[in-house]
Amino acid sequence: MYEGVVQDLIDELGRLPGIGPKSAQRIAFHLLAADPDDVTRLVAALTEVKDKVRFCELCGNVAESERCRICADPRRDQTLICVVEEPKDVVAIERTREFRGLYHVLGGALSPMDGIGPGDLRIRELMTRLTDGTVTEVIIATDPNLEGEATAAFLARTLVTLGLRVSRLASGLPVGGDLEYADEVTLGRAFEGRRLIEA
Ligand SMILES: [Zn+2]
Repeated sequence: MYEGVVQDLIDELGRLPGIGPKSAQRIAFHLLAADPDDVTRLVAALTEVKDKVRFCELCGNVAESERCRICADPRRDQTLICVVEEPKDVVAIERTREFRGLYHVLGGALSPMDGIGPGDLRIRELMTRLTDGTVTEVIIATDPNLEGEATAAFLARTLVTLGLRVSRLASGLPVGGDLEYADEVTLGRAFEGRRLIEA
């Protein structure tokens, strides 16, 4: 539709999640008209995030060194692990201030339709963390949708055999949604009212 580099920019923006062709076009023209300093800052932020940010070797959360700031914090309760799908879920739960334990980020949810099986998630890494007996309770906080529920059921079956307390966030979360869209109060209550899963 447009010439060369302008169209390249629109195409690249259009590949981002949640950005359709119209939004891509609007952002591209906004950038074209923007102050060069603003664009330089955006480019620097993009470059830096790819250079500096990596994933925590322990929990899979975003981190600026080998371990994320939560895993590196000795004040966190080492006996509790909350399992989530994505780093953005860690942010959502941290906002509630209800949880003082550690996290484990799976990197997605089971989805046979998309060809995502247990081997594609960080489940083996989770099992490794549970072997030394420090952790006594695992709270499963996958998204309240079909894939999240399937993942929770799979994990619960696997984890109860290890003799751990396994719980799932209470209902009341918006069904079919993303954990990150739940408000802090609802998410906080879901934590308090988590139900134990029996072997
Ligand atoms: Zn970590």
